[in-house]
Amino acid sequence: MSTRPFPPAAPSTRTPGPPEPDRPTFSGLAIGFVTAALLVIALLTRGAGVIGIAVLFLIFVPMEKLFAFRPQKVFRRGFLTDLTHLLVNNVLITVGVLVAVVVAMIPFFWLRHLDIAGALPPATAVVLAAAIVLVGQYWAHRLTHQVPLLWRFHSVHHSIENMDWLASGRLHPIDQVFTHGAVVIPLYLLGFNGNVFGGVVVFFTLLALFQHANVRIRFPVVRWVINTPEWHHWHHALDREAINKNFGTPVIDKLFGTAYMPRGQWPSGFGTTEPVPPVGYVRQLAYPFTKAARTGRASGQEGDAARVVPSTVQS
Ligand SMILES: [Zn+2]
Ligand SMILES: [Zn+2]
Repeated sequence: MSTRPFPPAAPSTRTPGPPEPDRPTFSGLAIGFVTAALLVIALLTRGAGVIGIAVLFLIFVPMEKLFAFRPQKVFRRGFLTDLTHLLVNNVLITVGVLVAVVVAMIPFFWLRHLDIAGALPPATAVVLAAAIVLVGQYWAHRLTHQVPLLWRFHSVHHSIENMDWLASGRLHPIDQVFTHGAVVIPLYLLGFNGNVFGGVVVFFTLLALFQHANVRIRFPVVRWVINTPEWHHWHHALDREAINKNFGTPVIDKLFGTAYMPRGQWPSGFGTTEPVPPVGYVRQLAYPFTKAARTGRASGQEGDAARVVPSTVQS
């Protein structure tokens, strides 16, 4: 299996590209229009989702102001892009996972009929489900970093330069169908029911919101038990020693030798060396299919790979 270059090329060797055009282009306007239309459709059709996001806004914005890891505007660059991800992607991911489960059922339907989960003592079934969720999520996430084709999709998530609760939504739906499928398909084939899937979705949604939040809160005892912002921010860090670390929960990463959380330190900045468009929902969804994603170079760039320049910590 080929792996993602590790560590990535040093930024200093890269050639800066030409400046961005300062007037709107036709394609830029068209993409902006499509993104705005998607956002409006989502706002009109996903009433519950909109209320949910409003509630999350009221919870996380004061929390991020009170305990900010770094000063950051609420309406920062990429706000609308990430809001669109949060509102639209759930629908695409749910459809994608359902298709993946149906396809997986074709050769393995006999396994579902055995109802292994139902035959187990309840406590054992809970432990088995938890193990599948935690280990499945870990390896699926790790593969998205190591397999170049999967990394093209997952690099959209790693293009986040401003970590906050809203950024947790920036995930390519195909990336999420792969990661969720790695958990849901084994659970389904072993006979687990909809309540377990519902619990898994709620657990991962809340965890994702919390671990991306821009909050400097340390949890002395639980920092090695559950995913905290301190833990997951290192996963997004540009610091060389943090590359390809912290894929799952701390316990599972410890088990597989990929845990990294130095005491008393915080990442120097977030982002990726891939040329993922920093804003634009449609552009980010299209990115994995572009030549830029295959070659690691932005269009129109000569020489070394173009780089999305990450923001750095202001301290
Ligand atoms: Zn990742
Ligand atoms: Zn993340």
